[in-house]
Amino acid sequence: MDQLSKFVLDKGIVIDEDILKVDSFLNHQVDMEFMNLVVDKFYQEYKDKKIDKIITLEVSGIAPATLLANKLNVPLVIVKKQKSLILKDNVYSSNVKSFTKNKVYEIFIDKNYLLENENILILDDFLANGQAALGLVDLCKQANANVVSIGIVIEKTFQKGGNLLKEQGFDVFSAIKIASLKNNKITLLDGE
Ligand code: 5GP
Repeated sequence: MDQLSKFVLDKGIVIDEDILKVDSFLNHQVDMEFMNLVVDKFYQEYKDKKIDKIITLEVSGIAPATLLANKLNVPLVIVKKQKSLILKDNVYSSNVKSFTKNKVYEIFIDKNYLLENENILILDDFLANGQAALGLVDLCKQANANVVSIGIVIEKTFQKGGNLLKEQGFDVFSAIKIASLKNNKITLLDGE
C-alpha cells in the first residue's frame, strides 16, 4: 500500500455510507505531507500535458490547486461561490447542486480569467456525483476554453460522477479512489 492510501485509511473518518470526513488533513486543517504526496501524483500525470491554467472551486480545492499550479508554473483561478462589489459583472456563471449541503448554488468566474482556446485543468477535492466538476466544465464551455482533464484528490467510485464525466468524453484523474464506505470502513479501489 502506498503512503497516500495509508494516510486516507488512517486519518479519514467515515460519517456514513456516502460521506468521508477529511477535516484533519484536506479541507479544514491542511496536512502538508498529504498535500505534497497528492500534488506529486498530479504532477507526474500532468507534467507533459499542455496546460495553460488550473481552475478550482473555493474553498477546498484551493490548497492542492495552488501547490500544483506552482509546480506546473501556470496560473490558478479560484472560481467563486458568491458575487461581490468587485466580482459582479462580466462573469460566466453556472449552477451547482451541492453534495454535502443539498442545495443549489451559483458559481462565478471573471471572463478575463477564462479565455477562448485556453487549455484548462479543472481540479477539485472530491468527486461524488460530479455536479461541481460539471459546473466548472460549463464555465469552460461558455468561454470556449478546452478542458484538458479533471483532476480529483479523492474520487468515490461508487457514486456516479466519474462515469458521468467519462461518458461525456472528459479525462478524469483521481489521486485516491474509494470503492466503498460501507460498514463504517474505507475500502480503496482494488489495485489502487
Ligand atoms: P459532487 O459535485 O461531485 O457531487 O461533489 C463534490 C463536492 O462535494 C466536492 O467539491 C466536495 O466539497 C463535496 N463532497 C463530496 N463528497 C464529499 C465527502 O465525502 N466528504 C467531503 N468532506 N466533501 C465531499
